[in-house]
Amino acid sequence: MKIGSHVSMSAPDYVLGAVKEAISYGATALMLYTGAPQNTRRKAIEELKVDEALALMEQHGIEKSSLVVHAPYIINLANCAKPETFELGVDFLKREIERVKALHANILVLHPGSHVKAGEEAGLEKIVEGLNLAMENVGDVMIAIETMAGKGSEIGYRFEHIRYLIDHVKYPDNIKVCMDTCHIHDAGFDLSDFDKVLDEFDRVVGLDRLICMHINDSKNVQGAKKDRHENIGFGEIGFDKLCAIVHNPRVSHVVKILETPYVEGYPPYKHEIEMLKGKVFDPEILTKIQQDAK
Ligand code: FE
Ligand code: FE
Ligand code: ZN
Repeated sequence: MKIGSHVSMSAPDYVLGAVKEAISYGATALMLYTGAPQNTRRKAIEELKVDEALALMEQHGIEKSSLVVHAPYIINLANCAKPETFELGVDFLKREIERVKALHANILVLHPGSHVKAGEEAGLEKIVEGLNLAMENVGDVMIAIETMAGKGSEIGYRFEHIRYLIDHVKYPDNIKVCMDTCHIHDAGFDLSDFDKVLDEFDRVVGLDRLICMHINDSKNVQGAKKDRHENIGFGEIGFDKLCAIVHNPRVSHVVKILETPYVEGYPPYKHEIEMLKGKVFDPEILTKIQQDAK
C-alpha cells in the first residue's frame, strides 16, 4: 500500500528533510508543499537537496510516483472578479509544474478554486482558461484536481465539475483527480458504501483518473460543507469506513495521504498509518502520539 502523510519542507534539509520525516512515520508515500501553502515565496530548486532526497527514497523503497506535490491554496483559477489573482495563479502554477518536474515527481494536487460571486459556470470556464495557460509545458505532470467540500463558493464538490474540466481543457490527458475523504463526506457523499461512491465516480469521471487520495476523518456531519479535518477514527466518518476505503482493492494502486491535524502539537501520522495498516482501531492512540513525542 502506498500510504503516507503531508510532511513539511523546511530549512536546512528541505526535500531531504521531508523524506526523512516520511520515513520516520513508516510511510511509503509523502506529500509536500514546495514552500508555505499560503504564499508564493519559493526557494530555488537547487537549494532543496533534491538528489539526496531521491537517493534516500530509493534506499527505502519509496517510488518517485509516490511523491506528491500540493499547489498552494492561494491559487484560485476560478476567480472571475480579480484579474490579478487569476494571473498570479496561472503564473505560479506554471512555475510549480516546473518544480514538480525538477523533483522527478508527477502528481500535482490542485484545488479547483472558488468562483466568489460569479457562479459555478463562469468559475469553471475561468478554471479552463487558467489551466490552458498554465499547462502549456505540462509534460508528464499530472494535475490532480482535488474534490472539495463545497465551502463558500468552492468548485469541485461534485464529480460533474471535474468532468467539465476534462471535457473543456486543451490537455485532458493530464487532468487526474485527488479524492479527499473529508471533503466528499462534507460534500454529501455517504462513505458507508465506498463502492457506490466509486461507481458514481467511474460513471462521471472514470476510475482511471483517480491517482491520489487524501485520507482524513471529518469534524462535521455528512453534507455539512465545512472542510475541517479530524484524526482517523475521531470524526463523523469513523475508523471502519476509512479503513475499508484504504483497503478497497479498486484503489489499491492509488497514493494515499493523511492530512489529519496534529495532536497537542505532535504529528499523528506514524500511529495513524500503523492503525490503518493493521485494520484495528486503537482507542489509546491520542495518548500514544503524545507519549511518543516526549
Ligand atoms: Fe488540498
Ligand atoms: Fe485534501
Ligand atoms: Zn480539507
